[in-house]
Amino acid sequence: MNDLVFPSSLFARLTDSLFSSPLESCAILSANVARGEKRTRYLVQNIQIAPDNVYRRRTEFEAVLEPSFVVSGTKKAQRAGQSVVFVHTHPGTDGHPQFSVVDDKGEGLLREFMARRIPACDHAALVLAPAGCAARMLGTSDEMRVIEVGRNLSIRSRPVERVLAKPFDRQIRAFGETGQHIIQQLRVGIVGLGGTGSVVAQQLAYLGVTDFLLVDPDCVEPSNLNRVIGSTHESVGVPKVAVAASLLRSIRPSIKTEEIQDTALNVAIAKKLLDTDFFFCCTDTHGSRAILSQLAYQYLIPAIDMGVIIATHKGHVTHVTGRVQMLSPGLGCLTCAQVLDADAVRWDFMSDKERKQDPYFAGAGEPQPSVVTINSVISSMATNMFLGAVTDVPAQSRFQIYNGIEGTVRSVNARREAACIVCSERGAVGRGDTWPLPGRLNG
Ligand SMILES: [Zn+2]
Ligand SMILES: [Zn+2]
Repeated sequence: MNDLVFPSSLFARLTDSLFSSPLESCAILSANVARGEKRTRYLVQNIQIAPDNVYRRRTEFEAVLEPSFVVSGTKKAQRAGQSVVFVHTHPGTDGHPQFSVVDDKGEGLLREFMARRIPACDHAALVLAPAGCAARMLGTSDEMRVIEVGRNLSIRSRPVERVLAKPFDRQIRAFGETGQHIIQQLRVGIVGLGGTGSVVAQQLAYLGVTDFLLVDPDCVEPSNLNRVIGSTHESVGVPKVAVAASLLRSIRPSIKTEEIQDTALNVAIAKKLLDTDFFFCCTDTHGSRAILSQLAYQYLIPAIDMGVIIATHKGHVTHVTGRVQMLSPGLGCLTCAQVLDADAVRWDFMSDKERKQDPYFAGAGEPQPSVVTINSVISSMATNMFLGAVTDVPAQSRFQIYNGIEGTVRSVNARREAACIVCSERGAVGRGDTWPLPGRLNG
């Protein structure tokens, strides 16, 4: 099933404008395309509301646009090679609307028109009611999910209902059946299955996530056995993604996993995340953070990034700091938060050969301290933030700083630069495949 994805600001603008009239109303959207291996995401980038004077006929039950508006409304998309989404309302419908026979007929004509006008793209139709919506590929019965992303991830079309098993009873009492249904239908990516990622994986499985993409290039080393959840003395030499996958299946055999033993520094590997709905960034390199941060905004896939630092000086611990930050349209990115070190990003993107030739490359530093208890605090904060973003759990913060010495957690507003190349509307937000991603292009 393909997805029609809106940044929250655009979804609010569309619904506010269209439902300001009691009559059936129309809009024409243009969307960038993001092609994953399993599905395509249509990323809404521009909205044109049909003004009152472009309706040929308009009542509470019907709206017919002047053909000249359809031509002018699709001009921008045609120039940019974008997909077009035709939107209309069913203002009197309770709950999720359905496409009518009249809609089927109108869309058949639009489909023929669009096949001539922008033949390189597929197009879509969206019908909105005040409390729900439905979308499909234009003129077909191929349904699409409608997803809104911002501070939260909300599925606006009818969610697929899955059986709610007994083990989830206690948490359904906390966040309701709807929340549990949503958790069970999201495909979640975890990049990095070490000290923090392995904890996140375990917690998500207990929460009911059923479908995982696991990415990590490394195998378990003896020095990892103090903190990689699921590892045993027999795990040395085993890929971390395999350790995580067997941990998840031991929790629930029905859990599906795809394991990729490779680095997200490679653009082709990072792009595997296009087939996820949400992902966690649990790596410890600046380069992978840079690429994953941009991917979250560019492809409208919300992510949570986390980091832990235990700093020492002359044998004494001076700082124990953790950061958990959600990356999604409307929230500041890692560049704005000044988390990324430009030199470190550059080194991470180099091949081994290029590094040897770089006079400034310092090589891998000393191993950093890492402790299971601190990692678990930060990972739990991240999974809680995920619950706040996808269910009704009232967890408001999207950026938290942990101070392990004082024992405090502070919620901060992420800085957001108006002209940021990553997280501003002039930047990567919703650009999909029309923009390149930073990173290593091959191997
Ligand atoms: Zn209709
Ligand atoms: Zn930014």
